Amino acid sequence: MSGLPAIIKKVLEEYDTVLGWDAGGAGGTAAPARFQTAEDAERAVFDATCVHNLAVHLPRLKGKRVGIVAKACDCRSIVQLVQERAVDRAAVRVIGVGGCGGTVDVRKIWQQFSYGAEIVSSMDSLSINGAVVDRAGFLRHKCLDCGESEPVISDEIYEAGGMPALSGGNEASLMTDGAGVAESGAASGAAGSGAGETRSLRAEFQAMSPAERSGFWRQQYAKCIRCYACREACPMCFCRDVCIMQTMEPHWTGGGAGAREAEMMQLIRVNHLAGRCTGCGECERACPMGIPLMLLMEEQNRAVEELFGYRAGADPEARPPLLTFSIKGDSWSGE
Ligand code: SF4
Ligand code: SF4
Ligand code: SF4
Repeated sequence: MSGLPAIIKKVLEEYDTVLGWDAGGAGGTAAPARFQTAEDAERAVFDATCVHNLAVHLPRLKGKRVGIVAKACDCRSIVQLVQERAVDRAAVRVIGVGGCGGTVDVRKIWQQFSYGAEIVSSMDSLSINGAVVDRAGFLRHKCLDCGESEPVISDEIYEAGGMPALSGGNEASLMTDGAGVAESGAASGAAGSGAGETRSLRAEFQAMSPAERSGFWRQQYAKCIRCYACREACPMCFCRDVCIMQTMEPHWTGGGAGAREAEMMQLIRVNHLAGRCTGCGECERACPMGIPLMLLMEEQNRAVEELFGYRAGADPEARPPLLTFSIKGDSWSGE
């Protein structure tokens, strides 16, 4: 027995279920899967299309003993969830992926080829419809910026054997994942979404005045259809039934899908994620309207790092600054 299926089988001897990927996605891409038997585990794969952050499922599985295959970036979400007590560390067996050479932007590939084009990917090569292509041109921007492809926590390690983590600083690394690049680029006068062709959305955004930024976001929010995919994909958005965006009392956001409601919704969401967002990019990847949500999150994450020297999930021993407080006196009586 060897490889990832063997590790999963070992974990299943003590745990109820293991979250990972099989090859069930369109065009041979990886799809999230839940393995519960040794037979199931034989389907497990890991390749550069394993883009999803499976940590999003952990709070929903509280009470079960769960194994999870997790890339280094996903492990940061697990650390943060443990720190917030949304996940019981003792009940989770982390199969960390070592040597992650980066994951590809499947949407970008299908934009350039066709939906469902056959993708065969490993940590150091990529072929589409049988032809080898330049893998670096299709990596997700977060992978080009990664610099930390080894998990911060793990109980088992699966060595993916990828190339060393890439460092940022080139044009491609500044682009936003997903369809948002093409749409928002067009809105602001930039060219299409291919690597090397698109002006950097982030650089553009940084250069905007406050009024221009405000106009930019109004355009983006006007596209929002209030589907809540960004919230559902986020491992740190686990309030679920009591989510402030849907509660009736207090009723913070209207039920419409206009730009004003979308702005209110994202303002609430971004503030609720202050010091908690691990930058996994799942919100933006999930958005069907291509809204570049990571621009919002990155700005805030940068501010938290500058003010508190804190990156969510980066250090299991760190105390999250915006979740750390002490109670002095009786807040009700004021004593
Ligand atoms: S951000 Fe880093 S750890 Fe995560 S998929 Fe990309 S290269 Fe791998
Ligand atoms: S807000 Fe987005 S980037 Fe941040 S943790 Fe949630 S899904 Fe990941
Ligand atoms: S995923 Fe996109 S369209 Fe859906 S609610 Fe979030 S921002 Fe709006």
